[in-house]
Amino acid sequence: ASIKKGGNIQRLDRKVGQRVCASQVVVDLRSVCKELIENSLDASSTSIKVSFAGNGFESITVSDNGTGITPQFHELLCRRHTTSKIENADDIVHAASFGFRGEALHSLCSFADLVVTTSSTENGVGHRIVYDSDGVLVESTETARTRGTTVTVSNLFRPFPVRLRALQKRAGVEFNRAVLAIQEYALVAPSVAFSVSTMKNSRPTVVFATSLGSTLTQSVGRIFGGSLLKTLVPIDTGTVSGFISGASYGRNTADRQFISINNRPVDVPELSGALNNAFRAVSHYRFPCIFITVKVAPDAIDVNVTPDKRTVLLRDRQTVVGQVVAAAGAVWGVAGEAPVVGGKR
Ligand code: ADP
Ligand code: MG
Repeated sequence: ASIKKGGNIQRLDRKVGQRVCASQVVVDLRSVCKELIENSLDASSTSIKVSFAGNGFESITVSDNGTGITPQFHELLCRRHTTSKIENADDIVHAASFGFRGEALHSLCSFADLVVTTSSTENGVGHRIVYDSDGVLVESTETARTRGTTVTVSNLFRPFPVRLRALQKRAGVEFNRAVLAIQEYALVAPSVAFSVSTMKNSRPTVVFATSLGSTLTQSVGRIFGGSLLKTLVPIDTGTVSGFISGASYGRNTADRQFISINNRPVDVPELSGALNNAFRAVSHYRFPCIFITVKVAPDAIDVNVTPDKRTVLLRDRQTVVGQVVAAAGAVWGVAGEAPVVGGKR
């Protein structure tokens, strides 16, 4: 194909325009999991099961016991910018839900086969619905289903062979990142029962699980083990709460750092960087474990900066970073004398 130079500017066909954008919303296995789990949490689920086949490249299934989707919305479900979560632009500021952009399912359709099984009633009857790559409903059949929704995405990234090959080359790493993404949500919603499994030698094998009604402490213990739990110290200043490593403990990799703002898992490199620096001054380890939640006023944060909402703008960024580092500093000031959580040392 040749590049047209000095040609006429024309509006792309609507479908082409959509396709150009859709593949940017969901870019890897981790974002597939993130989007599906956010939807399950937004639907008030108390149980979320995730199963992987072929490291996720064959299929990822997320099954919940949430509100389900009523039949009148089945047609709209995977269309572009269709959402039940906001009605106008002003709502974005106050959106308490994880989603509100109405892009995820539409985007998923463009690079994976998507099947939804859902029921919004208690009568045991639901629908199994198949969507095409433009998010158009192509098939709907009645099926037995308790209230809730199951979304299966299979043959991921098949229309994008270059990306598929790049991701598959490091399938193990991609899979681990996907699991980590699920763990982030299990930690911001510890009362929800998460269960994650992956097919190994044709058998589902549990990756991790948490129990219904758990506290953060219990879920950290379930996911990372009781021995890690013992090395953590609680912080609670009102603005910041959770757990961090005591000064005598820690890790040499940054793989146990979970920060959420208003219960949304986010990346705040400035904050984790400041904590890492403060920690290195008191510890032999390079990275503290961090399991903290920061609360700010809804209008003091903008999460709609990037499609994945992981990068956030904070109005009082320096104040927030300062408060968290001060709270951590108070813990690390007692180096070696860290109080023990959840058991004997
Ligand atoms: P968003 O989450 O930004 O609204 P999505 O494309 O992720 O956009 O989902 C579109 C809509 O589909 C949601 O607004 C919601 O009404 C519905 N939906 C998606 N997943 C679920 C689910 N697991 N349970 C109930 N409703 C769902
Ligand atoms: Mg969503």
